[in-house]
Amino acid sequence: MDRGGSNEMRQGLHIYDTHTHLGAARHSGRQFSLEQMLASMDRYGVDRSMLIPFPVVEDYRQTHDAIAAAMRAFPDRFAGAACLNPFVPEQEYLDEIRRCSEDLGFRAIKLQPQYQALNPLSARSDFLWKAAVRHKMPVIVHTGAGAPFALPSLYIMPARRFPDLTIVLGHSGGGLYALEAIVAACVCPNIYLELSSLMPHHIREVLSHVPASRLMAGSDVPESLETELNKIFTLEIDDADRREILWNTPRRVFDGFTA
Ligand SMILES: [Zn+2]
Repeated sequence: MDRGGSNEMRQGLHIYDTHTHLGAARHSGRQFSLEQMLASMDRYGVDRSMLIPFPVVEDYRQTHDAIAAAMRAFPDRFAGAACLNPFVPEQEYLDEIRRCSEDLGFRAIKLQPQYQALNPLSARSDFLWKAAVRHKMPVIVHTGAGAPFALPSLYIMPARRFPDLTIVLGHSGGGLYALEAIVAACVCPNIYLELSSLMPHHIREVLSHVPASRLMAGSDVPESLETELNKIFTLEIDDADRREILWNTPRRVFDGFTA
């Protein structure tokens, strides 16, 4: 099977899955290999995926190296995000983010406050936001389960303190807090929303307030990919907006495209 590029485009649209995990999760036992990722991308017509480590792993350097190897083997198909426990010694955290950015070519940092309970209102979280700005890496934050630090509204504060920072709220608050995610995106132009795990009526509500140019799609796990994509494909919106959500927004946010 040719896995070097995109296969048939669904309804003529490219698809960027901005939320996937490669490797093994120590906390849940979940595990996804590169072969599984490619197979599900091929099956559902996904052109490019953001590979993110699970929030708790055996060895974060090894996980980052595996993501980098996937990016080297399939540069068009994969982007990478760095994710490690923010409570390792601060210099160790910063050194790894620098390595992921400069040596491995990663495009984002992931913060998973459900397992990495860093208070985004505290100045003690500034090292993370500053590293993201320094390396021009958007921060993808898991939001939803894991309150209080996973509440979307809390990320208004770093987004305002660091206007050059880009924050992507993963799961848009996960249904229960979708309204908070809408507020956060409405008051901060540098906050974007990733729509995985929302119900279709939540997505409609998001779209009534937040432009498609600030929205993106994600699967989280291969088992959810088909459902997550169907939610976007069945939305009654213009194809131009669908193109923004599925491709253009993440290309601008993560890959530096200006279109
Ligand atoms: Zn996830």
